Amino acid sequence: MVHRAYIGIGSNLGRRVANVERAFAAIGELGTLLAKSSIYRSDPWGKVDQPWFANAVALLQTALSPRDLLEALQAAEQRLGRTPGERWGPRVIDLDLLLYDELDIDETSLRVPHPHLRERGFVLVPLAQIDARFAALRDALPESEARSVSPLGESDSAMPIRENDSIAERVRALARFLADGDAVRVRITRPDDDIEVALRAAEPIASRREADRAPTKTAAPRVDTIKADLVGIFHASRPAPAEGDTFEGDRELGYIEALGIRTPVHSMGGGRLVSISAIDGTAVEYGQPLFAVAR
Ligand code: AMP
Repeated sequence: MVHRAYIGIGSNLGRRVANVERAFAAIGELGTLLAKSSIYRSDPWGKVDQPWFANAVALLQTALSPRDLLEALQAAEQRLGRTPGERWGPRVIDLDLLLYDELDIDETSLRVPHPHLRERGFVLVPLAQIDARFAALRDALPESEARSVSPLGESDSAMPIRENDSIAERVRALARFLADGDAVRVRITRPDDDIEVALRAAEPIASRREADRAPTKTAAPRVDTIKADLVGIFHASRPAPAEGDTFEGDRELGYIEALGIRTPVHSMGGGRLVSISAIDGTAVEYGQPLFAVAR
């Protein structure tokens, strides 16, 4: 028996748009993804002193029961890097079961239709985009709620720089822009110059400091930081690598498991393991430093 479920997606930490894209892929693994809304930018709700959200809605055809689907969505949240946080606070990913066929479920841990469905612009705007039955509800939203949601546009990824800004102001704007976490490519165009920089990842500031410190702990001439290439759960190899281990050639230090796929983490050649920031069995973010290897 197949069922139709609408799932709400939200992210306001890290690379929000990429997080939503990953969520679409994770939801697709639970059945057949029938429709995806555009990704919207919405003002934070509830606790307002936090970054904006990227929001979207997916329509999934699935054989899972409502409860199994909720559990699968919660497991996907963990895999995508969600850590338990305060309610309404910033989150890497939030997946909500909005609707399941025509069912009404009213249990403490599962309420369908989702209680926020009728009142929140960030749910109704994307939902109405993929299902016209919700257009009337969307159009009935209070003005302020409707205004808090807008299609994610070019301007959200453009760096706000004014013509007459000094170099210092431009550098500050660039630093703020990169710290915001969503940029993947920066292009600086000036009359005499055109520079394009592709970014691999924005590292959390704490990790960046850790990585900066690593080389000073050792007298080794060069220390490479081995970082996570994807979001997932890190598992150390057995026997577990230990600080001080030396290896002649490349060694597999562990793997990152995401969506059932294991991606090995290599030492990228021989060297001495000078520090380990990776914790076995815990979630890692894209670009998070895992090991430091002195060459
Ligand atoms: P949050 O992830 O912070 O939005 O809240 C998750 C909590 O809401 C969990 O304890 C769920 O059991 C509960 N919950 C109730 N109904 C739903 C639903 N339709 N979709 C997702 N979570 C729900």
